[in-house]
Amino acid sequence: MKSGALKRVDLIFEKCNVKSILEKSLQKKPEDIIQAVLDSGLRGRGGAGFPTGLKWRFTAAEKNPEKYIVCNADEGEPGTFKDRQILDEVPRKVFGGMALAGYAIGAKEGYIYLRGEYKFLVPKLEEELEIFHSILKELKHKFKIHLRLGSGAYICGEESALFESIEGRRGEPRNKPPYPTVAGLFGKPTTINNVETLVYTVMICEHGAEHFKALGTTDSRGSKVFSISGDTPKPGIYELELGMTVERFVEEFGDGDTKAVQVGGASGFCVPRKKFRETIIGFEGVPTGGSMKLFNSSRSMYNVLHNYLDFFAEESCGQCTPCRVGCQQLLLGVEAVKRGDKHSKYLDELIKLAGTMKVASKCGLGQSVGNAFKSIVENFREEIIY
Ligand code: SF4
Repeated sequence: MKSGALKRVDLIFEKCNVKSILEKSLQKKPEDIIQAVLDSGLRGRGGAGFPTGLKWRFTAAEKNPEKYIVCNADEGEPGTFKDRQILDEVPRKVFGGMALAGYAIGAKEGYIYLRGEYKFLVPKLEEELEIFHSILKELKHKFKIHLRLGSGAYICGEESALFESIEGRRGEPRNKPPYPTVAGLFGKPTTINNVETLVYTVMICEHGAEHFKALGTTDSRGSKVFSISGDTPKPGIYELELGMTVERFVEEFGDGDTKAVQVGGASGFCVPRKKFRETIIGFEGVPTGGSMKLFNSSRSMYNVLHNYLDFFAEESCGQCTPCRVGCQQLLLGVEAVKRGDKHSKYLDELIKLAGTMKVASKCGLGQSVGNAFKSIVENFREEIIY
């Protein structure tokens, strides 16, 4: 791509014949499908960015005859709403990605874990699943997908908490290792992929690895679906090539007065205006699971920060002390600074606390609270203090 440019792409919602893609792909060796996904450079679209083909290869290498593919549809990051649209518009492509992944890793069953708030999608998904299962029957391919519904806990988007929830327990993250590719759902080797990631694997099988790889940058191949909200005249869902600068993004989606963009939701990074030009949206810059929130000068960044901290304090599962206590202390701390009960220097102590949470918390929730905290406090300190 032209460095930093913005380009619209249509892969995720592109109309395609999933049955014929599967028919063609199921004649290949599982290893060839994994190699194509590896060659494409596809990295997980949930935010962490682990190479998808590698995850499939690790699970495929496990000798256990019982394996699972799980679709993480627990889209709960504040400001993210694109998986909902994908599931609503192209559910068969999501199922197709699960069947492909299942074939590649040697799994005969898959689970979709759907965010509780997306319950309204269940009748449609069940209807589509019935059609999909009959397609698989016609192709004489044994694979079954089950649908499970969450109950509204943000932490169940964390892969191991999601497994606990499917297994009927309270959704709390597990210790790692072992990683899911070795012992995941029901203790069996499991690949867990995001909704969007699975659809891209179908499109890689349809158009080839090179087609996907030609988009994006060396570190961030392909395109990505973004949920764009906040102070923008064009809120909505857009598929864009990875590697654009925040400056170019703001030119396209801003309202002419954008002072900050929160990339990646509450667990992501706040990019201030002075860094728009140098910041790339992608794994080499600011990664995102899809949430892009624009703020103009009418917004108080203290309120934005307070809102995020309040969210984390509510959603922390409470299992480990750095996160359980840390989330509360960050929230109480900024409130005290804003009231004038604590000196502004106290913010530096809170930044240190956020750093400790990053290294000492058990899962991604506690580890990422510091991202938004540090980037907002460092760039908008004058709005946080009394
Ligand atoms: Fe629970 Fe937070 Fe610890 Fe994760 S980091 S296990 S959410 S308390």
